[in-house]
Amino acid sequence: KPVIVWIRRDLRLADNPALLEAARTGRSVIPVFIADGTLAGLGAAPEWRLKLGVQHFAETLRRTGSRLLFRQGEALPVLRALVAETGATDVYWNRAYHPDEIARDSEVKSELKAIEITAKSFPGNLIFEPWQVQTGAGGFYRVFTPFWKNARGLPVSDVMPAPQTLRVPDHWPASDNLAAWASRHRMNRGAAIVAPYLLLGEQAAQHRLQAFCDERLQDYARDRDFPAKPATSGLSEPLAYGEISPRQIWQRAKVLWEQGVGGAETFLKELVWREFAYHLMYHTPHILTRNWRAEWDAFPWNTDENHPHVIAWKQGRTGMPFVDAAMRELYVTGRMHNRGRMIVASYLTKHLMTDWRIGQRWFSDCLTDWDPASNAMGWQWAAGCGPDAAPYFRVFNPETQLQKFDPGGTYRHAWIAEGDLCASETAQYYFKAIPRSWHLQAGNTYPAPVVTVKDGRERALSAYETRSF
Ligand code: FAD
Repeated sequence: KPVIVWIRRDLRLADNPALLEAARTGRSVIPVFIADGTLAGLGAAPEWRLKLGVQHFAETLRRTGSRLLFRQGEALPVLRALVAETGATDVYWNRAYHPDEIARDSEVKSELKAIEITAKSFPGNLIFEPWQVQTGAGGFYRVFTPFWKNARGLPVSDVMPAPQTLRVPDHWPASDNLAAWASRHRMNRGAAIVAPYLLLGEQAAQHRLQAFCDERLQDYARDRDFPAKPATSGLSEPLAYGEISPRQIWQRAKVLWEQGVGGAETFLKELVWREFAYHLMYHTPHILTRNWRAEWDAFPWNTDENHPHVIAWKQGRTGMPFVDAAMRELYVTGRMHNRGRMIVASYLTKHLMTDWRIGQRWFSDCLTDWDPASNAMGWQWAAGCGPDAAPYFRVFNPETQLQKFDPGGTYRHAWIAEGDLCASETAQYYFKAIPRSWHLQAGNTYPAPVVTVKDGRERALSAYETRSF
């Protein structure tokens, strides 16, 4: 009797508890990926990247002699049908934590149990389960530092090996055609240049982790804020699709921390920010859609997505070079450096006084490492309305930030062509990648600021001060 392994965002063989447990039963294993309704909200870049990830994982499984079935439809009927077709008695999966996924998985679990199927979920996608890190009073954390101080001392189990073999069923059930999986969006934004920035698959992620630990970790704390330096791990993308597990990263870096390698503690702390984001999404799911602090509902944010300032922000034409460089990097590569994310989010929510959800949506359409928990927490943090947020009166100055974090102008040169006599290839490529309807060309003059640093700051602060938060 086969075991079905329901593959979701855990596209890896190693440290995959559901897959390993299924292999250990000694029975045949049927891995299946289901394109269901929880994927409906995906933006263009993450949808495109997920499909590539699933195709890549299908190939990886094929090389082990197994397969990845692909089915489209709602998870429960698909699994029920698969159980009926194959005679499987067990369905295993690794847990997901988005509220829609929790609701779906709870229903699937109870419905499968009702037909005498063993449905088991495993912890595989976080280092700490969201309920595992608790305050002294048994509640959840709203502030990062005490969360970190608690989490860093908790035991973390060893990384699990990849299954040695995956027994195949006598007959493979039919699969829908993965290549014909119809994307809802056309990912035409510079796919040609996005591709070289991709970090696709388990092996590539492991190589990246190794190279990062060998070559960059030592200087991570010093260099991680400079967007032109390749100083960070770049692992957020494979993490978002489970091509690497956070525990694999944690265990590797933890050893280096214990050996006193510089940068290791700072890096582990960043990794735990991701855990904190999931902790918050689990305990306060409204972080995804509403101001985390309800008093912010009264703030007079612009909510017009078609406001010229918002359009200029999306297109990287605000006249603020740091903001524009980062927004163009995002559009072309599907990535943006963390310092850039903080600057563009601050500029949108403070200088342009625009609702953070407009920025959140644009990021969710453009980021190949899009993660609902980290994205929502990042935006609410930048806007000032989230847990442990940067206070609203702390307004990043994109001009001084550029001087400080891009002193040689390398980042600016990489992304802004206008007015640059020897514009870089990437900066020029931006104009090829964007839609014609934006009516932009490399030869345009660089715009004057849509809102100056001083005016924007004063306007935001006076709006803030008239509300008594
Ligand atoms: P590294 O510096 O190498 O850090 C290692 C890992 O730690 C990252 O891969 C990531 O998993 C985690 N991490 C680091 N910083 C953060 C953070 N601030 N919050 C949560 N986890 C963190 N990250 C995403 O993965 N997806 C998103 O959609 C996302 N949206 C964001 C939106 C805003 C407005 C902001 C300010 C931040 C956002 N982040 C998001 C967090 C952060 O910018 C990225 O995780 C980081 O830039 C990824 O690069 P890296 O892998 O090289 O990071």
